[in-house]
Amino acid sequence: MNQIKIGAFISGCRKTKGWTQSQLAEKLGITDKAISKWETGRSMPDLSLFMPLCTLLGITLNELFAGEYIAEEKLKEKADEVLMDVVTNWLGHDQREVKVCGTVPPNVLEVENVSKRYGNVPAGYGAENNSVLAVNNVSFQIPHGSFVGIMGASGSGKTTLLHLIATIDKPTNGAIRISGQNIADIPEEAAAEFRRRHLGFVFQEYNLLETLTVYENIALALTVKEVSKESIRPMVQSIAKKLGISAILDKFPYEVSGGQRQRCACARAIVVNPDIILADEPTGALDSHAARQLLGTFAMLSREYSATILMVTHDVMAASYCDRILFMKDGEIKAALNRGQESKQAFFADILQKIEWIEGESHVVLEAVNP
Ligand code: ADP
Ligand code: MG
Repeated sequence: MNQIKIGAFISGCRKTKGWTQSQLAEKLGITDKAISKWETGRSMPDLSLFMPLCTLLGITLNELFAGEYIAEEKLKEKADEVLMDVVTNWLGHDQREVKVCGTVPPNVLEVENVSKRYGNVPAGYGAENNSVLAVNNVSFQIPHGSFVGIMGASGSGKTTLLHLIATIDKPTNGAIRISGQNIADIPEEAAAEFRRRHLGFVFQEYNLLETLTVYENIALALTVKEVSKESIRPMVQSIAKKLGISAILDKFPYEVSGGQRQRCACARAIVVNPDIILADEPTGALDSHAARQLLGTFAMLSREYSATILMVTHDVMAASYCDRILFMKDGEIKAALNRGQESKQAFFADILQKIEWIEGESHVVLEAVNP
């Protein structure tokens, strides 16, 4: 993956649209600085921005990764090339084992006094001293087998926190441990391997590779995890059956519904049996029926397969499927709520009440926190 080429391509597409860097930044809800960094090849867009960026620029994901327009007749050949590139870059290609010492700790995830400050934010973005404290001294634990939601308004720091846990971004302060391993101790070149072995991602609907069938998308996760060829098919078929997508395995992502795509992404995340599944607004692009189906799937995976799931959402309905909710505001965790034996409906009402309380009494909330 050639970042400089991709950057120049983004810049060219933006200019074709007649937009300034600021105008593109505004459409994506990010800083001008971020656009400038991409265009000069100093950084790549966040995963969650790939699809919105492509839609705005009128290009495909393959074209973005290739850093050029792809002619119709070259599509297949180019798509495979790009795919290999993405796989080796994003998922890594070294075989190094990450050592996890001792016995398995009861908490899959431990977040301890974690903060993240973004520097050099230009004026006009609500930043003080040119910087934004996106995550402010956050601590919590997630026990094995639980389904935890993080709620908060847009801009409260949810995605940033998830990116820190996903090893996509680094905290300014504090420690994050996944299965007992402090992720700050993982060398850069082993991070991809760590993600591959320990984490499952379900980010919005755009995380399937369009040139692969649903089956291939799920199988790919196993291939890169060096699962033997003979075991791949039964594993994919078994998870597809659990998630009700057996009938669409041979279809391409564009041939299936948004809900089916999400369940495919879910299958891909779960099939490798990760320590924790991280989901960022997974129902954001779904209608309410498909959203409920996906949430039901998460709840089932957690209940019956002891999958550990951390889901970011601003939707109360989605949150009501969780066992526990952490409420974020201005980068801080202001409160937490456990579902206990409550029904979804009762938990829904509790969540609404808690949000009202946080919004109404945020000035005294710090003393009242009971996480
Ligand atoms: P949420 O996911 O809850 O909407 P984010 O984590 O995306 O919130 O953003 C939290 C804050 O951090 C916002 O003020 C946002 O503008 C800022 N922010 C997010 N990403 C960046 C970045 N790459 N550079 C600078 N500021 C950022
Ligand atoms: Mg977000």
